[in-house]
Amino acid sequence: MTTVPLWRQIQRENFTDWKKLLNFLELDLDQAEQVLNPRSKFPLNVPLRLVQKIAKGDWNDPVLRQFLPTLKELEPSPLFVLDPVADEQSRKTPKLLHKYHGRALLVCTSACAMHCRYCFRQHFDYETADKLFKDELEEIANEPSLSEILLSGGDPLSLSDAQLKHLLGELDQIPHLKRIRFHTRFPMGIPERIDDSFVSLLSSLKKQVIFVIHCNHPGEFDDEIFKRLKKIQHLGIPVLTQTVLLKGINDDVETLKKLFLLLIDNGIIPYYLHQLDRVQGSAHFEVSEEEGKQLMAALETLLPGYALPKYVREIAGQPKKTQIL
Ligand code: SF4
Repeated sequence: MTTVPLWRQIQRENFTDWKKLLNFLELDLDQAEQVLNPRSKFPLNVPLRLVQKIAKGDWNDPVLRQFLPTLKELEPSPLFVLDPVADEQSRKTPKLLHKYHGRALLVCTSACAMHCRYCFRQHFDYETADKLFKDELEEIANEPSLSEILLSGGDPLSLSDAQLKHLLGELDQIPHLKRIRFHTRFPMGIPERIDDSFVSLLSSLKKQVIFVIHCNHPGEFDDEIFKRLKKIQHLGIPVLTQTVLLKGINDDVETLKKLFLLLIDNGIIPYYLHQLDRVQGSAHFEVSEEEGKQLMAALETLLPGYALPKYVREIAGQPKKTQIL
C-alpha cells in the first residue's frame, strides 16, 4: 500500500471554495458580489498556511490580494494579453521553452501549490499527457549548447518524488548540462514539500542545483519555511528569490526593505524584482516603471548592495531579461 506523503495531505486542505475562504477570514459575504469573480477559469486555490497569515476582515490584505479572483480581472486592458512573454514562440517541444543562450525551461506541470492572480502562465496551453518528458529529454540531450535547465511550470515541486526522481536522474546523466535550476513558489504555502525524501533526492545529484523561490511579501514567511529551506542550503545549494512588483502588495519602500532584509538574514539572496508581465486580467496589479525606479533608488540608500535584487522586465523576443535602470 502506498502512503500519501504529508505534503500531499496538507495540499488537500487548500481553500478552493470562496465562501469557505471568506467565512474563515470573517469577510462580509454580502460584499462579495461587488468584489469577486467566482467563475474565473483560473480558480481560487490557496494553501491554509498562507490563509492563516491573512488579517481577518481585511479585503486589502497584501497576501489575500495575490490569490483572490476579483472582478478587476475582467476589466479590458488592450496591452494585457494571453501570452505576454511569447512562450509559444520559444516552444521547442510541448514542454520545453528555449529563449536564452545556454538555458532552456521545462514546463514540468500545470499544477501549483497556489494560484497567483498575476501569473503570466495562467492562460498557457499546458501539455499534461506525457509524464516521462521523452521529447524534452531527447531535445536537451541533442542540444550541446545547453548548460542549464530551469524546472518551472506550474510548479516543479507539484511533481511526485517518483516523477522528479525520473526527470532529475535523466537530466543528471546528460554530459553537457552543468546546472539544474528550480523555480518554485511551493515552499511559501506548503514548506512540508521539502521533506527528507526530497532532500535526499537533491543530495544524490551530481549537477549543481540552484533553487529560486518566488515570494512577494514578508508576511508570507514563517520560521518553518526558513527551516526547510535551510535543509537545501546545507547541501551547498544556493537559494535565491524572485519577487514581482505588485500594486497594493509590495509597492512601498518599507515592505520591500523588510522583505529583502528578512531574506538576507536567513542566508537567501534576493535575485530579481520583476516588473509585472502584462498578462490578461492583471492590469490592476501594475506599478509603473517610473515608480519602480524610485523604489529601487530609495532602497539603494537603505540596503547593502547584496540585498538589492536586479529590477528587470521580460520583453518578448529579447535574448535576455532587460534591466530597468
Ligand atoms: S505558483 Fe508560479 S506558476 Fe503557479 S500560479 Fe503562482 S506564479 Fe503561476
